[in-house]
Amino acid sequence: MQNNKREFILVDKKPEAADVTSLFFKPTDGLEYDYQPGQYVDIKPSSVYGHGKSYTISSIPSDEFVSLTIKKNGTISSAMLDMRINDKVIFDGPHGNFYPENQGRNIVMLAGGIGITPFFSIIKNTIKSGSDAKTTLIYSNKTKNDITFFDSLNKLADNNPNLEIVYCLTQEKATDPNINEFKRIDPDIINKYNPYLKNNNYYICGSIKFTSDMWRTLKSMNIDEDDIFTEAFF
Ligand SMILES: Cc1cc2nc3c(=O)[nH]c(=O)nc-3n(C[C@H](O)[C@H](O)[C@H](O)COP(=O)(O)OP(=O)(O)OC[C@H]3O[C@@H](n4cnc5c(N)ncnc54)[C@H](O)[C@@H]3O)c2cc1C
Repeated sequence: MQNNKREFILVDKKPEAADVTSLFFKPTDGLEYDYQPGQYVDIKPSSVYGHGKSYTISSIPSDEFVSLTIKKNGTISSAMLDMRINDKVIFDGPHGNFYPENQGRNIVMLAGGIGITPFFSIIKNTIKSGSDAKTTLIYSNKTKNDITFFDSLNKLADNNPNLEIVYCLTQEKATDPNINEFKRIDPDIINKYNPYLKNNNYYICGSIKFTSDMWRTLKSMNIDEDDIFTEAFF
């Protein structure tokens, strides 16, 4: 069996939203880390007993560092966010196949909260590759302060006509002109920002509840199951 374990050292941290921080790592062996945007690693901080948890890589392969963007939640996320610069941790991975392969189709991404992490990597990589696929990101959060990568995403959308971002807030009527909708993602929102329903691939990422709600919503709109791809965070 292939050994996918590599040691990484923490080199930087960056706050991204309420309770969300990006951690930037480099491999201690100095070699490149080969991964696809949208993949994740399994991690068990040395301070924690028992099994580890999965965290999506939010950087892209051409970036200087490998980043994970983590929301403070329970035991392992807190242990990760408590890491200090120069602390080391083992990455097991990369794992997963949650990335667009069907080139030539438009992509609709439905993200709930911290479920934005694979999409952030995929969007940056799609733009960098020069692809002309149209991407619509529909991104749901409770409040504006919960929107991870808000400034970075806005900058990407401002500079790329093929990227449209629709922000939905469920618990706040923020006055920011970038915010589009003040309710949960529903068929009306998906139709409104996405006129080519049948020609798209749909990617859903968020909590188990968000992922299953969105899957059911797309099914109720007669979207073909083969065009729906999901990643549930648990
Ligand atoms: C493929 C994949 C990719 C992922 N990518 C990311 C990512 O990019 N970023 C990210 O932040 N997360 C990601 N996750 C989620 C991540 O793996 C963890 O599930 C998450 O960080 C919570 O783990 P934890 O150990 O911090 O929380 P846990 O300790 O497991 O706690 C989870 C929740 O349960 C509550 N809880 C725990 N114990 C009790 C108790 N005894 N009584 C009552 N409540 C309790 C906690 O308060 C917390 O709200 C991903 C998951 C998967 C599967």
